[in-house]
This record gives sequence, C-alpha cells and structure tokens, in this order.
Amino acid sequence: MRSYSLIAPAKINLYLEIIGDRPDGYHELAMVLQSIDLADQVDLRSLSTDTISVRCSHPQVPINRSNLAYQAAALMAAEFPDAFAQFGGVEITIDKRIPIAAGLAGGSSNAAAVLVGLDLLWQLGLTQSELEELGSQLGSDVPFCIAGGSAIATGRGERLSPLPSVDNLYVVLGKYRHLDVATAWAYQTYRANFGNTYVVNKQDLTSRAAAVHSSSMVQAIIHEDRFQIGQRLHNDLERVVIPAYPQILQLKETFQNAGCLGAMMSGSGSTVFALCDSENQAQKVHQQGRLLAQPSDLDLFIARLTSTGIQVMSSNKD
Ligand code: ATP
Repeated sequence: MRSYSLIAPAKINLYLEIIGDRPDGYHELAMVLQSIDLADQVDLRSLSTDTISVRCSHPQVPINRSNLAYQAAALMAAEFPDAFAQFGGVEITIDKRIPIAAGLAGGSSNAAAVLVGLDLLWQLGLTQSELEELGSQLGSDVPFCIAGGSAIATGRGERLSPLPSVDNLYVVLGKYRHLDVATAWAYQTYRANFGNTYVVNKQDLTSRAAAVHSSSMVQAIIHEDRFQIGQRLHNDLERVVIPAYPQILQLKETFQNAGCLGAMMSGSGSTVFALCDSENQAQKVHQQGRLLAQPSDLDLFIARLTSTGIQVMSSNKD
C-alpha cells in the first residue's frame, strides 16, 4: 500500500477588508494571505477497503464527516469514482500543531493536503488550478493553502494572485487556549454592526476588491519594505472580535509594546500575531508574551513566513 506524508502550513492575514455582501450569501473580501512554517503533518495511506477514515492527535478536532480533511477525501471520491474504485479508500492521520479555531486556517490546510495527497496517491495528474477549483468547493481558504506563499485573495477568498515572497520575517503567535472565535459568528456580527456601510452595487464591489492590488500593503510587499508591511497590517474583523474579547487587545498591545514591526489579529481570531524583523526580535516579543497575567492559558509560538504551501515530506510503498 502506498502512503504520503505532507506538510500543511498555517496562514495569517496581513490584510483583511470586508467590502460587502455577495449574492451567494458570503462576504466580498479583499485580503493578503501569508503562509507561515507552523504546520500540521497529514499522512495518507491507501486502504484495501472503500472507506475514508480520519485520526487526529488533537482531542477537540472531530474525526467524522465534519472534519474538513474527510470532506476533501469524500469530494475526491465523488469527483474521481474510477480512481477511488481502483486505488481504494484512505486513512488520514493528522498530527495537529496549528491551534484550532484560531484564524490560522488549520482545517483548510488539512483539506488542501488531502487534495494534493490524493492527486498523487490516485495518480490523477491534476493541475494547480484544478486542485484550487476543488478546494473552493470545500472552503474559502482551501485554494490558497494549496500553493501557499504570499497572495492577494478576493471574492470569498478563493480568487488568488500570487505576490513575491517576503523572506526572513518572523511572527510570534499568541492564542488563548480557551478563547475560540467561531468564524461564522464574527462575520455575522460584522454584518449586523457595519452592514449599513457595505458597498452594494455589483460593479463597485468588484472595483473596490480590485483596489487591493494597488494598496499600500501590496506595494510594501512588492518593494520588500518590512517597516511598511508592519505599519499597513489591517483586519476589519478586529472591530467586532476585540470588543467581545478584551484579552485579544491586551495581547496585541503587549506585542506592540515589546517592539515589533506590527501586531494584528489573524482572520476571525483569536490568534494575534506580531510581525518581527529578526529571530532576536521575535524572542524578545515572545518573552513579553510570557509575562502576561495568565501565561498558563496562553500558547505562544515563533514561526517564519514561508513561500510554500502543501509540501510532500515523504512517500512509501509497503
Ligand atoms: P479559518 O482561519 O479558515 O477560519 P480556523 O483556524 O479559524 O480557520 P480551524 O482550526 O480550521 O479554524 O477549525 C475550525 C473548526 O473546524 C474547529 O473548531 C473544528 O471543530 C472544525 N474542524 C473540522 N476539520 C478540522 C481540521 N481538520 N482541523 C481543525 N479543525 C477542524
């Protein structure tokens, strides 16, 4: 039986702007997404039966059909029934290192790894855009997670334009273990509070989203201006998540006061990241995070920005 081990990196949002409502019920977004080297390991092993099974090292991650990795395998089985019949089912084992419900796209990255891994396991030879199209059926962040790196994401987040990679920047991530923010709640609350400011005309929605291509964040990335990248961090969802969870602001201010390029909540939270110029600066910010009132409930990680998405670590045939 053949098996593959894949690395599935987390992402952070360097920029997240909510522009308006889409006819499909989702929000029209303009984002800059960035992969980091904090990653899960996803192992795929062919089974001789036609079952899909999921195991995960984290007790709070569901291992049934609601797991995004399971859904990715079920989608592949439905799309490629001949390959599923020929190669059999799959056992998916997730070694979870990315905090869950954290705004770091852990589940989406696991799903992306399953798409990439099954393409190899079932010898389908899919292109990156075919994989991204399948990913968009599973979740808005899945297409980005496939190739990863640095990219502008518009639409629901599935329309991608790659950006040059920003090398040698570090992040310190802080996530309160018992503070999980539901993504759906954050977007619904934003709509309830700020829906009256949304762009409504379809053409205006498209041109506002397109404006992110010439935004100062994108210019800062193109020119590798690390200081400006730190200054231009932006996340509209902070406007609803921070008032509901004041610890997030406290953590952000602690990071900012420790001396980093900039600090921001990632996605719908609750992770806060500090962008750092060097490993040394990241260590100092990390130390300040440790001094916070409830260090036992606060998980802190140091990671590097990475230019890669899903990577095959090894493959075996036994
Ligand atoms: P995003 O940034 O895309 O909104 P997130 O980091 O906020 O994602 P996830 O860690 O992907 O959130 O998980 C959100 C919820 O999805 C979890 O609470 C969990 O119940 C469920 N879930 C389903 N599949 C997975 C998976 N493979 N890994 C983690 N969580 C999963």
